[in-house]
Amino acid sequence: MKEKISAEVLPLMEDFYTIQGEGFYQGHAAYFIRLGGCDVGCVWCDVKESWDASAHPLFHVDELCERAKVSGSNIAVITGGEPVMYDLTSLTTKLKNAGLRTHIETSGVYPLTGTWDWVCFSPKKFKNPDPTIFPLAHELKVIVFNKSDFAWAEEFASRVNASCQLFLQPEWSKEKEVLPLIIEYVKSNPKWQVSLQVHKYMNIP
Ligand code: SF4
Repeated sequence: MKEKISAEVLPLMEDFYTIQGEGFYQGHAAYFIRLGGCDVGCVWCDVKESWDASAHPLFHVDELCERAKVSGSNIAVITGGEPVMYDLTSLTTKLKNAGLRTHIETSGVYPLTGTWDWVCFSPKKFKNPDPTIFPLAHELKVIVFNKSDFAWAEEFASRVNASCQLFLQPEWSKEKEVLPLIIEYVKSNPKWQVSLQVHKYMNIP
């Protein structure tokens, strides 16, 4: 019988050991587990091939965990696609039992499952987040595509918890025009920090 997606079996687009290029953990070695499947539909998405979950092979969480463990990384980053589409309880429990920190990158469009050491919440304009994500976010990372996104970012900053780290990151294709705006904005509003996708400068995944 063909296996189905469950808490024990998840669609994997790719997994790889690299350097976290963005946000609070920028520069740290991290094992990325990119799950397939996303229904958010960002027009500027740079991983559109992730959207169709059925296009990606299914893996048992034990195997995903073993691959992360043998990499030698201290951190597993679960990303997508949109990983909160799935029950991540078993995956995160097993990663933690194997001694890895569990980090997630999510637009928060469904309630979060699993046990997390770090939640990076990156809201998207194309689908509203589930309100349960706000108190859980350790990091708010807003992708800035144009000037109006600063006001949009502030709406989210007012809803996350007081200790949440706030990042503004230029959308990659707009970086030349948007980065100078972000720099000025952060200078005027220093609760925010600039996040750059440094892995793209280093030519690593
Ligand atoms: S949420 Fe992420 S994977 Fe999904 S469309 Fe947006 S950028 Fe792409």
